[in-house]
Amino acid sequence: MSEILSLPKRFEEFTDARKNGFLKVKELKESGKKVAGIFCTFTPQEILDAAGFVSVSLCGMSAETIPDAEVDLPKNLCPLIKSSYGFYVSDKCPYTYFSDLIVGETTCDGKKKMYELMGKGKKTFILHLPQSEDEFEIENWANELRRFKDFIEKEYGVRITEEKLREAAKLRNVERIERRKLMEVQKQNPAPALGIDLYKTMDGVGFLFDEQVRIDKLKGLREQIEAENNYKQNEGKKRILVTGCPIGGVLDKTVGAIEKSNGNVVCFENCAGLKACLRLVDENSPDIIYAIAKRYLSIGCAVMAPDNTRMKNLRELVKEFQVDGVINVTLHACTTYDVESKLVSDLMKELNMPYMSVECDYTPGDEGQLLTRIQAFIEMLK
Ligand code: SF4
Ligand code: SF4
Repeated sequence: MSEILSLPKRFEEFTDARKNGFLKVKELKESGKKVAGIFCTFTPQEILDAAGFVSVSLCGMSAETIPDAEVDLPKNLCPLIKSSYGFYVSDKCPYTYFSDLIVGETTCDGKKKMYELMGKGKKTFILHLPQSEDEFEIENWANELRRFKDFIEKEYGVRITEEKLREAAKLRNVERIERRKLMEVQKQNPAPALGIDLYKTMDGVGFLFDEQVRIDKLKGLREQIEAENNYKQNEGKKRILVTGCPIGGVLDKTVGAIEKSNGNVVCFENCAGLKACLRLVDENSPDIIYAIAKRYLSIGCAVMAPDNTRMKNLRELVKEFQVDGVINVTLHACTTYDVESKLVSDLMKELNMPYMSVECDYTPGDEGQLLTRIQAFIEMLK
C-alpha cells in the first residue's frame, strides 16, 4: 500500500520530480530505451511515444549555465535559449547528456539557430513548424509529422503503427484532461491552492516517465486538494491570470511575488499551464497523423501569426476563472511575445480587465523592482 502523503508533501514530490528523474532516465537507457530531448509544446509527443521513446524537456531554467552559453551565443538573447544551450555545451544536464535525439522546431529565430549548433554534437531533427492554423498549414504540418515519423523509423529501426499512434493519443488525451481538471480546482472562489504549487506540479509531472503514473499522480493530487478544500489560505486575495512566455526560470520573481503580494494565481495560460491541455487529439479521426497535426497547431503561441487562439483562450479564461487581473510575463529578448503584448493589452482594455506586463530574465537583481511593481498592481485591484 502506498504511503498517504500530506498535501504539502505531495506538492514537494512534484517539485523534486525533475532532480529525481535523472536516475530513472539512466535506468531506462540501460534497459534499452531511447531518449528524446524536447524543448517545446509543439513537439508531437504521440510520435515519440509510439516509437517507444522517453521524451524529456531540456528547457533550461537556471542562470547557472548562461556564462557557458555566452561564449558562443550573443548576450542579448532570451535566457531560456541561453540556459538550455549552456546546459548542452557544459554537459551539466544529465537529461541532455542522455538524449539520443534532440527534437527541435522552427518556432522563434533564436531557438531554431540554437538547434543548428546543437546538431554539431548531437543527432538532431528540426521540425518545420508552420506559422498559422490555416487549413493548408495543417496539411503542411501533417506532412512534416510524416517526415518525422519516417526519420525515426529509418534511423532507429522501429515501426510506428497507426494503432500505436492512436493508443498514444488516447493516453496523452487522458493526461491533458487530468492536467486541465487540476488547474480547474482554482475556479473555486476562493481557490484552494497556491499557484506556485500548481505550476511546479504541472512542470514536474513531465519528469515522471510513465504515462499511467503521470495520470494517476495528477488525479490523486486533484482529489486530495478537493477533499481538503483548503481555500482559507486564499480568502480575500486577488485572483490573477498569468500569461506569456514559459516562466520556469523566473517563477519566484513573478508568481512568487504575486503570491507574496495578496494575489493568488488561479490560472496559467502559458506553456506548462492550460494552453497545452485545452484541446485534444481526435483519436477516432480516419487520419491520425492529420488529427495530431491539427491539435498541435491549435496550441496558441506568439510564434503564430495571427495568434488568434491565444486571444480566444484569454478571452474565455478570464471569465471562467473569475479573474481580477492579468499579468503578462515576457522573457528578455523574446520578440514574438514582446510584440504580441500590445494585442493582449488591447484585448484586456476591451474586456475592462486590469492588466500589466513585466519583462525579466534569469539573472538575479531585479526581484525587488518586480515585487514593487506587482505589489502596486495588486493593491490597485478592486
Ligand atoms: S512559448 Fe511557444 S515556442 Fe515557446 S515553448 Fe511554448 S509553444 Fe514552444
Ligand atoms: S521565450 Fe520567446 S525567445 Fe525564448 S525560446 Fe520561447 S519563443 Fe523563443
